Amino acid sequence: MKCGATIGAIPRNIPFSRVSCDGNELTYVQEVLDSGWLTTASKAQEFERRFAQEVGTRFAIAVNSCTAALHLGLEAMGIRPADKVLVPTMTFTASAEVIRYLGADPVFLDVEYGSSLLTPEIVAEGIDQNPDAKALIVVHFGGQPAPMFRRGDRPGILEICRERGLKVLEDAAHAFPTRCGDRMVGSLGDATCFSFYANKTITTAEGGMLTTDDEVIAARAKVMRLHGIDRDVWTRFTTLQSAWEYDVVAPGYKYNMPDINAAIGLAQLERAHILRDQRQRCAVRYFQRLAGLQALDLPRIHIPLEDHAWHLFVVIIKPQARVERGRLIALLSERGIGSSVPYKPLHRMSYYRDRYRLKAEDYPRAERIWRGCLALPLYPTLPDEEIDYVCDCLHEILG
Ligand SMILES: *Cc1c(COP(=O)(O)O)cnc(C)c1O
Repeated sequence: MKCGATIGAIPRNIPFSRVSCDGNELTYVQEVLDSGWLTTASKAQEFERRFAQEVGTRFAIAVNSCTAALHLGLEAMGIRPADKVLVPTMTFTASAEVIRYLGADPVFLDVEYGSSLLTPEIVAEGIDQNPDAKALIVVHFGGQPAPMFRRGDRPGILEICRERGLKVLEDAAHAFPTRCGDRMVGSLGDATCFSFYANKTITTAEGGMLTTDDEVIAARAKVMRLHGIDRDVWTRFTTLQSAWEYDVVAPGYKYNMPDINAAIGLAQLERAHILRDQRQRCAVRYFQRLAGLQALDLPRIHIPLEDHAWHLFVVIIKPQARVERGRLIALLSERGIGSSVPYKPLHRMSYYRDRYRLKAEDYPRAERIWRGCLALPLYPTLPDEEIDYVCDCLHEILG
């Protein structure tokens, strides 16, 4: 296929991301509308119960964003002003801003080239340099789990943090459903945060979930999710005894998930594995069709394909390529292909860079990724034929 030739052909429109809402979303939303109670109630509870089951954890706490879940998780772990929290530089600002919400300070870590993940070695070095760090935030970048468990004589990130007394909060905004060894992401560290933002692997439009096996974290997060009130709205309105009375135990937040959103989430959850399988189909085709293209480094995968959530397919354009990244984005756009750059590393963002006097040369691998990284369209309804067209265009432009 000749790429880019719109002469005599239909111009293409392949967006970077597209939401799949063709399950029971409408039915469940209608049930909520008919019930007359639109905000947090039985649908949110059911969504929590099913999600906890899905990731194999005791507690799942539905909130209105992953950012809220990250904030609640750190707060419940007892992170306080001036505490240090380790976090990878190659992530969305939400992973680090929540540290600042609590007056604590992020310490940015470099990541592995090709996967954008933390490694046990990077984490160990980060703790050596910051022995007073209280917690680590792990990002399961693109839907691939970071190496949390021991493999052979290489210790896992969890083990290193346990030994050194750090709590582990996981940013799993990309990682549902993701398997790590014989467990699901969501049941690994002290607490895990998921995003159901519109472009994530499952969505509630806006929404998030905090999962944990830790009773203390769960109890605190539940209270702080809704104004620091000691019982949630549902219990307050359904228990007969003292139904009108409640206490405020802390200045909490307004982070609850409305039932309207939970209804969409329940429908999405039913199809989560079907949607994941379809994204894997896309990823496998990209690997096949782009294998011979010298100008690109393809994603580095450390796990069986089935364990990956396949939220992102990030290629890295090598420095010696014919066309640089900015130009490539423009040329793809001319050909009707959307793409995205995940992420400009946080050590390059003026707020973090200036406040913590960060230097790019301290993050050599993140810098190498940043100069060339580009995420290609990846979603369940992306047809093989369109993937082939994207790959043909990449071969034509870069080959
Ligand atoms: C999307 C995203 C978030 C924030 O999710 P929200 O639900 O929009 O708050 C956090 N971390 C990462 C890595 C993300 O991609």
